[in-house]
Amino acid sequence: MTPVRNCLVIGAGIGGLGAAVALRRQGIDVDVVDIKPADQVVGVGINQPGNSLRALDVLGVLEDCLAAGYQFDRNEYFDWQGNQILVTPCSLGTDRVPPNNALARADLHQILGDAADRAGANLTYGTTVAEVVDDGEGVSVTFNDGREGRYDVVAAFDGIRSPVRRRLFGDAAEPQYTGFAVWRVTLPRPTEVTHTMLFHGDRSNTGVIPLSDEHMYLLHVTAEPEHARYAPADLPALLRQRLAGYGGLVAHLRDQLPDGGVVYSPISEVHLPAPWHKGRIIVLGDAAHASAPNLTQGAAMALEDAVVLADELRRDRVVEESLAAVSAARFARTKLVQDVSHGILTTEMAITADTLDDFAANLREHLPGQAAYVEALLNQPFRLVTAPASL
Ligand SMILES: Cc1cc2nc3c(=O)[nH]c(=O)nc-3n(C[C@H](O)[C@H](O)[C@H](O)COP(=O)(O)OP(=O)(O)OC[C@H]3O[C@@H](n4cnc5c(N)ncnc54)[C@H](O)[C@@H]3O)c2cc1C
Repeated sequence: MTPVRNCLVIGAGIGGLGAAVALRRQGIDVDVVDIKPADQVVGVGINQPGNSLRALDVLGVLEDCLAAGYQFDRNEYFDWQGNQILVTPCSLGTDRVPPNNALARADLHQILGDAADRAGANLTYGTTVAEVVDDGEGVSVTFNDGREGRYDVVAAFDGIRSPVRRRLFGDAAEPQYTGFAVWRVTLPRPTEVTHTMLFHGDRSNTGVIPLSDEHMYLLHVTAEPEHARYAPADLPALLRQRLAGYGGLVAHLRDQLPDGGVVYSPISEVHLPAPWHKGRIIVLGDAAHASAPNLTQGAAMALEDAVVLADELRRDRVVEESLAAVSAARFARTKLVQDVSHGILTTEMAITADTLDDFAANLREHLPGQAAYVEALLNQPFRLVTAPASL
């Protein structure tokens, strides 16, 4: 059996950079290409729940992430006028990792990019693949800058619109728009924002998540037409309009919204059936299983994929078997996250002013048990071979 000597990672997002570090730690040579220029990270903040922090620990960057972020251990739910519904403790994590650590997206990318550099991965930005030929013995790649390479494995972490997924699987797993979008912006952190606070309104909801002692981010979810396109300059005013019915803390934050910096993201999902590879090429991260952001688990799933990929590739067996083992280990767990996230999104977005009281009563009765069940599964190892019983 020839060991895997080298791997091309397509996409230097959170999953791709994580994979570069994980593969280098197994002694595999790694090239990474990303179509975007370096330092172009779009986004606001990102929460890293305990299972993601376990993956970041395996990659050797836990301390850096904790130093850059804000740790918290609970979620608090309110109605849109700021009346508390309930508080749920978060049981994710271990003695080593806290339940949650939220940080600026740019900081997480910087930490992972630096770690990939230190580990000896070759990162090239502003480049993509032009041609990929898998001849069974290896993969020959021609890049769009004319360079050529030969790899034992190609791992595509090229995001929700993955060109590699399309190349391998056609249009069988195109992103499905959920009907909802998120508006996000970084703001100064009021002292009471020490954990996730979620405010349920009339077919919308709003959240605040601390990012550091100084900053937090606000997110607001609304129903939007599939192809809505808003000019960046109009986003702050549009967000203010959508927050109009809210009282309490959210009203206070709405009145302080800056005139820029609002990011608008439609929420889509990808459901690629397993196996996620063909021959020596595998599709992972959002490219295989993008989910609604309600559990804040998307990047966590991509980082867990990265750790499992490196673990499987070090085994002494044919490459295709190792790649098949990756999606076999990961499918049920990522599907659980997708299903639960989708369920939360659609349930929350169906609430109206008239049904809010019923929703609140339901949340008090059922949420603690449901959250504990899902968190217990996420606290397990990154491989979940059997699908869990439905909630
Ligand atoms: C509104 C919102 C909020 C979220 N909040 C959270 C959160 O709090 N916590 C969490 O864990 N997750 C969150 N997520 C999900 C998380 O952002 C994604 O799951 C995660 O970024 C996936 O990582 P990835 O590496 O698979 O893909 P990406 O991070 O999307 O990276 C893909 C990379 O591939 C590159 N690429 C694309 N095409 C090509 C090409 N042709 N050639 C080369 N490179 C290419 C892109 O430039 C990009 O750098 C959120 C998502 C959304 C939409």
